Amino acid sequence: MPSTAAQPTASLAGAASGASPRKSKLAARIARAIEGDVIAADWPVGSMIGSEPELIERYGVSRAVFREAVRLVEHHQVARMRRGRSGGLRVIAPDAAAAVSAAVVYLEHTGTTVDDLLRARSLLEPLAAAQAARHISEEDIKALRDAAAQKTGTPPDGQILAAYGSLHVTMARLSGNPVLQLFVEVLAQLTERYAKVRRTTRADRDATAREVDRAHLALVDAVVAGDAATAQHCMSAHLAAVDQWFAGTQRRIVARRPAAASERAGGGHKLAEVIAEEIRADIVRGRWQVGDVIDSEIGLVERYDVSRSAIREAVRLLEHHSIAWMRRGPNGGLIVAEPDLDAGVEAMALYLGYRGATAAHLLLVRKELELGCVDLVAGRSSEPWVRERLEQALTVSPDAPAAEVNRLANELHLAVAELAGNPVLAFLIRTLTSLSARHVAVAPGIQPLPAQTPAEAVAHAHLAIVAAIASGDRGLARRRMARHLDALSLWWH
Ligand SMILES: [Zn+2]
Ligand SMILES: [Zn+2]
Repeated sequence: MPSTAAQPTASLAGAASGASPRKSKLAARIARAIEGDVIAADWPVGSMIGSEPELIERYGVSRAVFREAVRLVEHHQVARMRRGRSGGLRVIAPDAAAAVSAAVVYLEHTGTTVDDLLRARSLLEPLAAAQAARHISEEDIKALRDAAAQKTGTPPDGQILAAYGSLHVTMARLSGNPVLQLFVEVLAQLTERYAKVRRTTRADRDATAREVDRAHLALVDAVVAGDAATAQHCMSAHLAAVDQWFAGTQRRIVARRPAAASERAGGGHKLAEVIAEEIRADIVRGRWQVGDVIDSEIGLVERYDVSRSAIREAVRLLEHHSIAWMRRGPNGGLIVAEPDLDAGVEAMALYLGYRGATAAHLLLVRKELELGCVDLVAGRSSEPWVRERLEQALTVSPDAPAAEVNRLANELHLAVAELAGNPVLAFLIRTLTSLSARHVAVAPGIQPLPAQTPAEAVAHAHLAIVAAIASGDRGLARRRMARHLDALSLWWH
């Protein structure tokens, strides 16, 4: 039952796991500073950041705070600490898995549906196909044809997508855009995990398999020929057909519990990470609500059959991702927290930093997703609260201080994403706006038009966009948002 537990703040969560709130915040700040340095240095994999004594001195913090910061940096797969004489903190190459799992955590907890996934894919993948047609090289043609040839035969009932996903991921990789690649990878994985086709006969599945083969071959032909328009169209039509397979099936995605004890030892995962993942999956599956007390620390030790220190480390990870927090005292225990976009967004943004996403990569994807949202929201302009919410988000006034414009301007973009009612789109757009802000910070001060300040330009554009959405004019709203985003790119380096 929901209790009256107060919302955990970052500092409360820190206090709950034993560290003082101030220390915990400080550790997070040190971790961000280390990560910022790695990104600024173009992510030099293998290079030494420093030894523990050096870094403790450089940041002027206690050993306990520094070690907590290192745990976060390791958890984010930015660097790893090696003990011993030639030891120290070294930059590592992250794999997409950390970013993907952070995205999955958030999306599972917010009641995402398979419809939401497919809607996002239908925006991103036609774009990826068009970009692949423009950028594919002779060597890549072979990789693409191999991916298309991989999956002949009929998959078992319910697993059609699992058998066909690899071509979609390959296509996104060949787009040459790391943002598209990561996003499609996340969405393809989620679809594979959760999409269930309704029960079909073998003949049905054979027919579907042939249809998919045909669609993929047409798509590959268009990409190889460098025909971006046809590739885009083929992908759209193909995804619309995929959407039909899932019609009328159970569509909310629900976390899967990891294969418990046997996996705890292997896989290179630390025990605490595995336990955190098990607790997380149990929270989602158990339909626990924000504020519910899951169990006491002792109860968790028994339930998960691990040491108290492993539970404490797992709880720190759950707190870091705002999944749950530990309350001390007589009514204490592990409490379900409000899902937090920021941890997932941060992990995605970090990984894209490593992959060298540029302002142009970001803009291309941002435009596609935001125009998709504008279209959805303009279609619902007759609902009175849509206009109200949009008008509340007009926070940029023509005389807003220049340093504040970007932060304020995000309000409208996030409001449109939120009103679109699709947690996947909202999550991806949030990732892009947070990355755009980093790019903006590097080259401020460029004026969009000689006669206007950035604040004037943004205030004017936002007002025009809201007016078009509120009047239900989808075409005009899309056009105004597109032009606005193009103009924004002037601020980005
Ligand atoms: Zn396909
Ligand atoms: Zn804007």
